[in-house]
Amino acid sequence: MASVRSLYDVKQMYETLRRRYFPAAEGSRELPPAKEIRWYWLAANSDALGITHWDADGDAQDVGLAPLLRGSYHLMKHILLHEMTHIRLGPTPSCGGFSHAWTGPRIARSGLWHAETLRLVQAGAFQL
Ligand SMILES: [Zn+2]
Repeated sequence: MASVRSLYDVKQMYETLRRRYFPAAEGSRELPPAKEIRWYWLAANSDALGITHWDADGDAQDVGLAPLLRGSYHLMKHILLHEMTHIRLGPTPSCGGFSHAWTGPRIARSGLWHAETLRLVQAGAFQL
């Protein structure tokens, strides 16, 4: 599969993943359309390739993606699915990532991150 070079390509991928893997469901946040996705220069010592920022109401404000993701379709898809999981679950729980462990209870305590990731795996989202 080709790489995903432009923000237009990334937004197309987001929309495809949103329709395919994030249907509206009782008790779940509906993912907004892709509009606030941008390239984001993460700190050199960051362990993250993507980041979701939140507004004061706890809604996703924007998603920042490391420009190096343009080189890999599969890596871009994985990071996008990761950030989309954050958006689906809200500011808490944390995925357990070192860089944003402060955002909420760790996965071992909540189980929500684990359950959502398993749902995506069972839906085939991570198939190559
Ligand atoms: Zn994360």
